Amino acid sequence: MRRILVAGNWKMNLTYQEAGDLASDISGSNDSNVEVLVFPSSPFLSLANEFCDETISVGAQNCSQYDNGAFTGEVSCSMLKSMDIDWVLIGHSERRQIFHEDNQIIAQKVNTAIAQGLNVIFCCGEMLEIRDQGLQIEFVMEQIKQGLFQIPAESFKQIVIAYEPIWAIGTGATASPEQAQEMHREIREFINKNINAEVADQIRILYGGSVNASNADNLFSMQDIDGALVGGASLKADSFNNIIQAALKL
Ligand code: PEP
Repeated sequence: MRRILVAGNWKMNLTYQEAGDLASDISGSNDSNVEVLVFPSSPFLSLANEFCDETISVGAQNCSQYDNGAFTGEVSCSMLKSMDIDWVLIGHSERRQIFHEDNQIIAQKVNTAIAQGLNVIFCCGEMLEIRDQGLQIEFVMEQIKQGLFQIPAESFKQIVIAYEPIWAIGTGATASPEQAQEMHREIREFINKNINAEVADQIRILYGGSVNASNADNLFSMQDIDGALVGGASLKADSFNNIIQAALKL
């Protein structure tokens, strides 16, 4: 059985004080079926690690594709590991669109993170124009193929996929549970065909895009949805805790 993962992406929000308060107000999960993870911005990683309860993991929102050296402003995977950070987000649409990270850079980041022993939430998802043309499945499969299929099958245990349709991120326009389920099933099938059945069965696929306390339970009830990557609704302890509660009720 796949463990439900509820992950909060705080993006570039909160002050040091607010991040500490939020970290201490999130209720973790002692339930072996539900895992909780937060992604504060880099300066707050240690703070969040200190203030979150011990059942909550803390991850970085980004990492460099390079190991070390003259890359001003970048944060390496080995730096993250040395701070007891075990997770990193790679391929978020904001990194792809605003910071021009293409599939090649994303694949390099995945390789570096895997080599350093980090777990990766690999984000993928189509823009509205792509969905309007009915091309969303090919588009997302290409992102997965180019970003992930260079790693060996055994490294997929370090990967969680987050399907985040760009038109649903921060817009309030959530994909319907059926739309999300359709894509998640396609992703699992694609991994089954191209990697193997065991990886396809075990890999967790999260949905992201305007998840909140009111829609989480319907999304979580779908067969191939193994949790959520939550942006806006993870910035308030109440709403994030309610999403965690929805996972605990499954
Ligand atoms: C995100 O940015 O990963 C996200 C899903 O944001 P929101 O929940 O605000 O749509």
